[in-house]
Amino acid sequence: MNKSGQSFPRLAYGGHVASSGRIALMPSETIPLEEHQSIFGSPEPYFYKYHHLVRQLSESDILGRGGGAFPLSRKIASYEPFGKNLIVVANGSEGEFLSRKDEALLRRLPHLVLDGLSILATALDATKAYLHIDFSKEELRHIVQAAIIARRKIDPLTIDVSTTMSGVGYVAGNESAVISAINRQGGRPIYLPDRPIVRGVKKRPTMIVNVETLAQLALMARFGSEWFSSVGEEGDTGTRLMTVSLPSGSSTVIEIVVGTKFSEIVRAFGVSREQISCGLVGGYYGQLVDAEKLWLLRASQPHLKAAGLSFGAGVLALADGCPISLTAKIIGYLSGESAGQCGPCYLGLPELFKVWQGVAEGRISSGSYLRIEELCEEIAGRGGCAMPDGAVMLSRMSLSRFNSEILSHQGGRCSYAPGNEYLVPSGAVTATR
Ligand code: SF4
Repeated sequence: MNKSGQSFPRLAYGGHVASSGRIALMPSETIPLEEHQSIFGSPEPYFYKYHHLVRQLSESDILGRGGGAFPLSRKIASYEPFGKNLIVVANGSEGEFLSRKDEALLRRLPHLVLDGLSILATALDATKAYLHIDFSKEELRHIVQAAIIARRKIDPLTIDVSTTMSGVGYVAGNESAVISAINRQGGRPIYLPDRPIVRGVKKRPTMIVNVETLAQLALMARFGSEWFSSVGEEGDTGTRLMTVSLPSGSSTVIEIVVGTKFSEIVRAFGVSREQISCGLVGGYYGQLVDAEKLWLLRASQPHLKAAGLSFGAGVLALADGCPISLTAKIIGYLSGESAGQCGPCYLGLPELFKVWQGVAEGRISSGSYLRIEELCEEIAGRGGCAMPDGAVMLSRMSLSRFNSEILSHQGGRCSYAPGNEYLVPSGAVTATR
């Protein structure tokens, strides 16, 4: 990357590019402000203007990178900006255990995130901006705070930015949990009477945007929407950050051109199809997919959606063990992440885990299928946040995708070697209610 704006890599400046030319590693060091300015140059001033920003975002087709894959132009155009005392929050809390992309971005390119935050806050006439991160990651906190201080001295941002402390755990990145954390209400999901854009932080209209989305916006503000969408696919343009976990347990953040084949990504790590049994696509809100199907998929939201999947939190976790056992473990982990506020979540998920655990251990009857279906029906759409819906989706899809393996378990056989404990944090499968 230089001031002319090469098409790839974009965020993985300074990192190694795989021979395919579509996969790159993030840089290994933090890029300080002077270097950041020399590499990326300055954003075009007209990007700070609301109508121009909306038009460019709309032309670029950029989707949000936080998991919801919502078009950024629609999110911003839905807000009538001026004179409403808006707060903008850069969400870097990343509660998903398997995802490291937002942290990697904030560690290596904090000024690109700050640029994006500054552009958006100015265009929306916001009066305050927060950079919301997990304060338990001390080194990350120092890097981000040092970047903000450097900006105050050398190249001030157009808006005052404060760092705020996220809650910890899977649901910490949820919008209502972000608002609850900044309002000092505990950092867990809370009931919101209105959408955040109507009433959020300090009861003021609040726009929450993922940090990778802001970094992508900051690049677009230099090189334009046409450049942005010069790579990628229709409906999902540009590049994306992904966290790839290997069966060994190691994980790496990469930048890919949208649409890159998963087989290409897996091979870039020296892993063959025969070495994996399945992959978790999207993260805990995603689904387990067998190796054969995984090999045919591309990393693009429209393509994955057509296959009943989602890019989600940008996670691809490769496993070499039993998908039934993994389904049970993930649901067990999610049940332990419940904020304990909604019955279908804190009572239903442990129950769902127990049934799946029985299936994984071969204690299966026709009643097991029925009970899983019943529990999914009882839980779906009834949580205060979307977390339990992820467990429901995973349950339903694993029931249908791995039916033959379930039958093997019923006959007392498992086709896979044990392993893959890393897919959930150690000691986290604690559903006991
Ligand atoms: S669904 Fe679960 S995690 Fe979400 S708000 Fe309710 S109790 Fe909390």
